[in-house]
Amino acid sequence: MAKDVIIALDFPGKEETLAFLDLFEEEKPFVKIGMELFYAEGPQIVKDIKARGHKVFLDLKLHDIPNTVRSAIEVIADLDVDMTNVHASGTKMMMGWALEGLKAKGKENDTLLIAVTQLTSTDQKKMNEELLIPGKVEDVVVAYSKLAKDIGLHGVVCSPLEAAAVKKECGDDFVTVTPGVRFGGMMICDQARVTTPKDAAKNGADYIVMGRPITGAPDPVAAYRRAVKEFLG
Ligand code: C5P
Repeated sequence: MAKDVIIALDFPGKEETLAFLDLFEEEKPFVKIGMELFYAEGPQIVKDIKARGHKVFLDLKLHDIPNTVRSAIEVIADLDVDMTNVHASGTKMMMGWALEGLKAKGKENDTLLIAVTQLTSTDQKKMNEELLIPGKVEDVVVAYSKLAKDIGLHGVVCSPLEAAAVKKECGDDFVTVTPGVRFGGMMICDQARVTTPKDAAKNGADYIVMGRPITGAPDPVAAYRRAVKEFLG
């Protein structure tokens, strides 16, 4: 299975994003376009970045009624992204209809469709007391992963701390994409469930997503290379 470091392009607009990507002419990293950049620039930014030779994870975390999600995924499928996602909490039915949208466009083998289990900013206290979901985060992540796997999704987004448990339950082929990755000794900001790239690799993560530790580094290329080295060995 492919393993890679994905850079989260959490920038306000095209100008900053392309200036950042100019630094990476040599390595052409796998990148993630999230809500901020997509809402600011629209689908054209996806096309521009793909045209520069990057693989793209379009991270829009869809969560709506099944029919709306299926229609939205059909639009996303036409952008030829390499990975996109929905929230597992939208239910198995919603995830299934999302997959139908991808299939309707013949893209089910080209675009990885993955489900967000619990955001890496959610800790057990918030999950129990605010979301009213009892139990341990890891158990909920594994249960949501099983729903995603049962309905045919390719994998999940989870914290690197849960990747091993997800692999154990859903099999090695089931893709784990893990944000919440920090270099040793760094501030974690709003993230709660974090590890280093090396520990994410040990836990069996297939893809790690890193934003601020790379985009906010004094030398982003050096930070990216460090992440690749620590993650891929
Ligand atoms: O800057 P940082 O490394 O925390 O960025 C993590 C990225 O991963 C952000 O773009 C965030 O939206 C995304 N993400 C996350 N937790 C999830 C899913 C996606 O942090 N469960």
